[in-house]
Amino acid sequence: MNYDEIFPKIVSHCKEYGFIFPSSEIYDGLGATYDYAQLGVELKNNIKTAWWKTMVQMNENVVGLDSAILMHPTVWKASGHVDAFNDPMIDNKDSKKRYRADVLIEEYLDKLNAKSLKETEKRAKKEGWEADNENYQGFLKNNRDAKKAQAVYEKFVKVLEDNDLEGMRDIIVENEIACPESGSRNWSDVRQFNLMFKTQLGATADGSFDVYLRPETAQGIFVNFSNVLKTSRQKIPFGIAQIGKAFRNEIIARQFIFRMREFEQMEMQYFIKPGTQKEWFAHWKAARMRFHLALGLPQEKLQYHEHEKLAHYADAAEDIQFRFPFGFKEMEGIHSRTDFDLNKHQEFSGKKLQYFDVEENKNYVPYVIETSVGLDRTFLAHLCNAYQEEMAPTADGGQEERVVLKLHPLLAPYKVAILPLVKKEGMPEIGRQIFDELKYDYLCTYDEKDAIGRRYRRQDCIGTPFCVTIDTQTLEDNTVTIRDRDTMKQERVAISDLRAIVAAKLDWRNMLS
Ligand code: ATP
Repeated sequence: MNYDEIFPKIVSHCKEYGFIFPSSEIYDGLGATYDYAQLGVELKNNIKTAWWKTMVQMNENVVGLDSAILMHPTVWKASGHVDAFNDPMIDNKDSKKRYRADVLIEEYLDKLNAKSLKETEKRAKKEGWEADNENYQGFLKNNRDAKKAQAVYEKFVKVLEDNDLEGMRDIIVENEIACPESGSRNWSDVRQFNLMFKTQLGATADGSFDVYLRPETAQGIFVNFSNVLKTSRQKIPFGIAQIGKAFRNEIIARQFIFRMREFEQMEMQYFIKPGTQKEWFAHWKAARMRFHLALGLPQEKLQYHEHEKLAHYADAAEDIQFRFPFGFKEMEGIHSRTDFDLNKHQEFSGKKLQYFDVEENKNYVPYVIETSVGLDRTFLAHLCNAYQEEMAPTADGGQEERVVLKLHPLLAPYKVAILPLVKKEGMPEIGRQIFDELKYDYLCTYDEKDAIGRRYRRQDCIGTPFCVTIDTQTLEDNTVTIRDRDTMKQERVAISDLRAIVAAKLDWRNMLS
């Protein structure tokens, strides 16, 4: 299924089954803000738990933090966000729509590359070339669209490096990139637009001052470096991890929860000895990829992507991209941030942010490796990966289409659905007892309405990995069936073994070790 077909289906599935609602919907919504509904909040919490376990619980030298969203305004001066946290924007004079100039160019490059691939595949079919064939690779690199894409890309990298806004507009004009909404090529100049939301602290006109909603959680970690160091008995290398909201006034906010104005980040800053950044960068780059694989995202949908232009604070930066239905896009950034942030905060606050290294017998400002993953983008990656439409057998021996969310069982909102076959003969009572037995450890759902086939379909749609059914045999021998969401196979087990069976299937150790 292509993007135009699958993505709208995923978005409406989220709404229909209570994963995500548009924010303030009864007032027609608010641009690029969403609410996580009853099942969405569970999936989100499970992703957070997985991240926290791998970061904090399983690393003796990583501790957690939950810093305030509002911070002293000088923090953002020191970090460079007041002066440099900008996106280049361009307006289309006919449609009056505003775009990120760099994104327009990136999308144009994606289109050229897709065309080049299509052409190559057409030719390969005709010539009988395999993808690893020399001719295939040669044609892929040297066809007209590939060459054009390469030329545009080189120019793009140069204008990004030079911060050349006019050059960026030239690329758009020269390549006749049109407004996606109206098709018009009537463009304004490219201007910088600061992404931070400003608000006021204090009530009186003269006593109040401007503060910002944090655009990243990282700075809350940097300003607490000394506090944590003094109170935690950590030694370098050590990390501080935090999950929290961040806010960016994105110019274009599209693709559902991929780009929002209010979102959540899971960030870890790892403080290291200067000079060791290369090895720690490689370490965390690999560790973060392992995390996504362990949660069930497949290797072929994940890739590293090196930054075209390094941010002002970084000496190395790579993204982990996921193949969303709209292409490979950033899900996580791994950045080698040098001593930039701690140095800047020392300079602006006048407080020392240093580490005394006993072995070296000297003070230094630590270097930092950062891993920064978007919680919402991880959520979206799992949804897109899990959503499947397939044929399934019906009770009368036929076939019907089912929608199933093949989420990792540990991420699934409900772990167990408890389903009495009929609403009589004591089956509901047994169901309730099973619910009470499991509820301390797992989020369960109890459902006695509708035919059993329909109830299974509903649980498939929301990704429940196990359905426990109480039937007539239960009344005779205290056994139930447990149905696996993915294979649809049912196994008969004793009620007294149920808790241990579910525990074995939902063991974090299996996933994270
Ligand atoms: P992009 O280039 O897509 O704007 P970024 O490079 O600015 O992202 P970072 O500042 O590195 O992003 O933030 C770390 C992570 O936070 C990103 O990898 C992404 O998963 C997430 N993130 C950033 N901006 C948004 C947003 N507007 N909505 C949802 N998630 C976001």
